[in-house]
Amino acid sequence: MQGPIIILGAGQAGVQIADSLRQENYTGRIILIGDEPYGPYQRPPLSKDFLAGTVTQDQLALRTPEMLAKKNIEFLPSTRAASVDLAARTVSLADGQALAFEGLAFATGCRARPLPVPGADLPGVFTLRGIDDTLRIAAALKTAQNVAVIGGGFIGLEIAATCRGFGKNVTVVETADRLMARAVSPVISQWFLEHHRKQGVRVVLEAKAVGIREQDGGTAGVELAGGEFIPADMVVIGIGIIQNSELAKEAGLGCKGGIVVDACARTSHPGVAAAGDCTVRLLPDGRSLALESVQNAMEQAKSAAAALMGRERPFTACPWFWSDQYEVKLQMAGLSAGYDRIVIRGSQEDGAFSAFYFRDGTMLGSDSVNQPKDHMATRRMLDKNLGPTPEQAADSAFNFQTLLK
Ligand SMILES: Cc1cc2nc3c(=O)[nH]c(=O)nc-3n(C[C@H](O)[C@H](O)[C@H](O)COP(=O)(O)OP(=O)(O)OC[C@H]3O[C@@H](n4cnc5c(N)ncnc54)[C@H](O)[C@@H]3O)c2cc1C
Repeated sequence: MQGPIIILGAGQAGVQIADSLRQENYTGRIILIGDEPYGPYQRPPLSKDFLAGTVTQDQLALRTPEMLAKKNIEFLPSTRAASVDLAARTVSLADGQALAFEGLAFATGCRARPLPVPGADLPGVFTLRGIDDTLRIAAALKTAQNVAVIGGGFIGLEIAATCRGFGKNVTVVETADRLMARAVSPVISQWFLEHHRKQGVRVVLEAKAVGIREQDGGTAGVELAGGEFIPADMVVIGIGIIQNSELAKEAGLGCKGGIVVDACARTSHPGVAAAGDCTVRLLPDGRSLALESVQNAMEQAKSAAAALMGRERPFTACPWFWSDQYEVKLQMAGLSAGYDRIVIRGSQEDGAFSAFYFRDGTMLGSDSVNQPKDHMATRRMLDKNLGPTPEQAADSAFNFQTLLK
């Protein structure tokens, strides 16, 4: 391929596709289009250190515009792709300009899911996806004393922990009967519930926010089904995401929520790849998998770059993810859904343990709380199709390295 390759979305996946194309010795034009005014940046600190004020905006940068220019990557910030014509091989921008491409990659990410209740559009109600959102939340935190967080998933809980760090009164409202229910097992949910409560956060489970009440043009608090009212000067909503796949769908690509890709990040159209949060990956067993994680964005981006060069680079590595809440690092490895046995290694009381998941005696993955060595060992073992027995996993004296040698 020699003609221009256009990458839609200049986030974690978009910039990695551009970088990987250069690593794959692609010498043609690369045009990286992003609708934000910033260069590509890391999102994980937005709810953690950047919100806490311990990381600066400059430190979020994945690549500066100068770094991109050095690699001859043409970066167009504040530029929105409005439509794609796959037959004519053009991308139309919101300002009416049309750009021709030979290869195309979607890396359009996702957006925060809005809460469909009255009052969700009040000033003092926030979602968190980008730098501007964190800046707005940080500004509101300067005067707010009572913070309500709607959604007890990773982002909601990270925000709750950061707000507690500022000494705010924090209430987390979650519809499920446990925290982070989509991603972790009940044992991990319970440990984090107790930990947040120990830190002074009020966590209300099985509670549905039905409205946000207004006062003097701002926020008075959150109304729950059942009648309870939670006073709050600001509300942060973290109830999941919607994939930015509309552009791809309108262009005729196969989509199932996200843009459907195979293990090599190829879409339903030849010469068009997709990577990161905007995708859903088809697994060999027919299931589809949508992962919103840095690792997924990076790995799929490398596959997408190879695919655009006509090469196959399947993403087969074991999935992993992390979340920081207070001083606690939670790290997840593997796909644990469908487990029939959980084994605990380490001490829940001391806040240093891992839950290992098994099905028919085979390890599927682990969730580690302040146990990075268990996490790394799980990843390495899964990547090599290895695993401990449940008894070995439960025995803290058993060294996983003996299996890895
Ligand atoms: C607050 C927060 C905390 C997180 N914490 C963690 C964590 O601890 N660990 C972890 O592994 N992951 C974490 N993640 C997830 C991780 O950041 C994402 O999985 C990753 O950023 C995905 O990269 P991406 O390139 O697919 O999407 P993005 O980084 O979202 O980039 C997509 C870009 O495309 C742009 N775009 C969309 N449509 C268009 C268009 N039509 N034209 C031009 N540009 C467009 C978007 O505005 C955006 O800039 C977190 C995410 C958030 C928001």
